[in-house]
Amino acid sequence: MKKLLFATVFALMLQGAGSATAQVYPSRPITIVVPFSAGGPTDALARTLGERMRAALGQPIIIENVTGAGGTIGVSRAVHAAPDGYTVSIGHLGTHVVNGAIYPLQFDLLKDFAPIALIASNPMMIVTKNAVPATNLKELIAWLKANQSKITAGTAGVGSGSHFSAVYFQKLAGVQLQFVPYRGTGPALLDLVAGQIDLIVDQASNSMVQVQGGKIRAYAITTDKRLAAAPSIPTVDEAGLPGFHVALWSGLWVPKGTPPDVIAKLNAAVMEALADAAVRKRFADVGLEIPPREQQTPQALGAHHRAEVEKWWPIIKAANIKVE
Ligand code: ASP
Repeated sequence: MKKLLFATVFALMLQGAGSATAQVYPSRPITIVVPFSAGGPTDALARTLGERMRAALGQPIIIENVTGAGGTIGVSRAVHAAPDGYTVSIGHLGTHVVNGAIYPLQFDLLKDFAPIALIASNPMMIVTKNAVPATNLKELIAWLKANQSKITAGTAGVGSGSHFSAVYFQKLAGVQLQFVPYRGTGPALLDLVAGQIDLIVDQASNSMVQVQGGKIRAYAITTDKRLAAAPSIPTVDEAGLPGFHVALWSGLWVPKGTPPDVIAKLNAAVMEALADAAVRKRFADVGLEIPPREQQTPQALGAHHRAEVEKWWPIIKAANIKVE
């Protein structure tokens, strides 16, 4: 009897400890796993957001860059972490949608993640090193055709935003590029500035500063309206490649099984960060568009994620992109 009583009291104590831990979340630093190189656009997004989320959550946000295989190594690391809210996955249309149609993943991108929030969307920019003789998109396409298969295009690996956007560009423009994979477009952009590669179909947020500094040349952005941050860059429709529209949206997820109250706290911290004037300005300056508040909920990201899988998988499978 005594033994039974002790066991019951002990079990109750454990239960109490469990709920106390949940109540004080977060009680230690939170890690955001960035699946691309430091200094790149996903890294920059995570750092700006993380800095502001730290204020909301009262705990440091650690950025861990786990790179390789178009982002699948970092995403895999995050999905297999404990579902306790201390490991968060950041990614985008490439890592959390497109890669599922290209790589034999050991997890399900939709079922094994729980959504936190849609963060921001970014168009792509067609950029080249300054030594390329073309001065507008039509001239660039003519130059690419004249040099078929000799032009090098930097990517962040098979399935990354810069890769599938460039594959789409090849198809619409009728050109052939030599892909050079990096672990992120941060290092690819450094090589473009240095003239080591010819071209990147890059996230606007990555290239913007180098374009504005005159270190590389931009030909068009993949939206139907010009960016307020770079009004002199034409849209693809204006520049001669109508319909080449890509909105590389990013989001945050945690492993499935993460308690709902933890998800709610993370979502509230993201929403607080996205409402912050300084964050909004930093994003707007590089062409990152924040979704309206009603689209910042976990449910909205879940629905958007599913719709994007349904839209892109058939297209990507038909494009027959292979992992080298
Ligand atoms: N977003 C990636 C990065 O941060 C690049 C990409 O998807 O192209 O490097």
